[in-house]
Amino acid sequence: MAGTLVIGAGIAGMQAALDIADAGFKAYLVEKEPSIGGRMAQLDETFPTLDCSSCILTPKMVSVGGHANIELMTYSEVVEVEGNAGHFEVKVRKNPRYIDVEKCTGCGMCAENCRLKGRIDSEFDVAMGKRGAAYLPFPQAVPLKYTIDGEHCLMIQRGKCGKSPPCRDACPADAIDFDQQEEIVELEVAAIIVATGFDPFDARLKPEYGYGIYSNVITGLQFERLSSASGPTFGELKLNDTNIEDVVFIHCVGSRDRNLGNPYCSRVCCMYTAKQAHLVRHKLPDAQITVFYTDIRAFGKGFEEFYDRVREERVRYRRGNPSEIYKRGDRLVVRAEDTLLGKPVEVEADLVVLAVGLVPREDAQAVVELLGLSRSEDGFLKEAHAKLQPTDTEVEGIFLAGCCQGPKDIPDAVAQAKASAASAIVIMSHPTNNPASGAD
Ligand code: SF4
Ligand code: SF4
Repeated sequence: MAGTLVIGAGIAGMQAALDIADAGFKAYLVEKEPSIGGRMAQLDETFPTLDCSSCILTPKMVSVGGHANIELMTYSEVVEVEGNAGHFEVKVRKNPRYIDVEKCTGCGMCAENCRLKGRIDSEFDVAMGKRGAAYLPFPQAVPLKYTIDGEHCLMIQRGKCGKSPPCRDACPADAIDFDQQEEIVELEVAAIIVATGFDPFDARLKPEYGYGIYSNVITGLQFERLSSASGPTFGELKLNDTNIEDVVFIHCVGSRDRNLGNPYCSRVCCMYTAKQAHLVRHKLPDAQITVFYTDIRAFGKGFEEFYDRVREERVRYRRGNPSEIYKRGDRLVVRAEDTLLGKPVEVEADLVVLAVGLVPREDAQAVVELLGLSRSEDGFLKEAHAKLQPTDTEVEGIFLAGCCQGPKDIPDAVAQAKASAASAIVIMSHPTNNPASGAD
């Protein structure tokens, strides 16, 4: 008996797995998506240091992918957990990629020749870019193996893709296998770390902002993809080939909103907006940039200083919660009450970025039922004690890391992951659980 199951391979799950593996124990890292990396892989730069997110994340992803003590299971889901601390029995379903990962060299010929190339919204680019049914989510993906999305692939859905599937014809490694089936893998582990992350708030629930109606109203995560050099516009701020001159940001979309049932602060939106305003200033020196805010919460190390810097970069902060966005000609108009001036204002823009909050993942309840956990009032996974056991759960041997427990920024997610890894190591080190570490 040995090892820890880590569910979710975003920054928190990766960090927990690496700490466990570096300590000489086995980590089984299970990720639903075809690649590890999570939300952090989608970001352009990170606040307040302006580190390029993928530059600091990619080496960690590579370490995870190559670590002898980490068994990586991507495109996989935990479907059953039994037992208790020190002795959990776990079943993991490996979903079919329809590509033999042992043979796939990552050459990309299948994606290049897929009949659906450029016709499916890319999840990684938050629908700002397109992919085919055969695809790699992003160029730095780990593992660097392609996937055929069975929900869209014509061969899987209709049993036919032209006379002969062009992806298969193009593959020089004979790696495409439409007969691949799901596989159940059984594991025995001493501890479990849950690092399943968050979902961005669905901005369509604020219909007054026209998200989903006006193509130039986008979310903060979509802005990250637009601004990123690896994104669909290679970092140029333009939409539908239209250049952007003026930009409005709106804070607290889906956060601190009792009407929506999300009364909590999402903790990162004030600062990611400040960073995005800085990026706009850098890319569009003449833009008029306006940020509508409720309060500014710049509580972390270097945050207040960064906020000051952004204001000095001619970013106009206006206190007020916009009531409506409408179209005047080709431009958007944001209507709000400026609560400091005590008067209504209207600001024109070519792009409006909604600083959407963080909400519990859609599958949070399924995770709770799978593991016997509970949720706090805000819907996130509940810790055993908010102050003294912030990473333990009420189930001995199961720990939390990252945003599945509540909104937090990257350093806090990493710190929590390290704490959970330490707790898992304590359990794995107990002689009754693990006379030998079981690591390679
Ligand atoms: Fe892999 Fe074949 Fe696709 Fe190349 S063409 S990426 S080897 S599946
Ligand atoms: Fe694309 Fe057709 Fe290959 Fe499916 S079978 S991945 S739709 S080319």
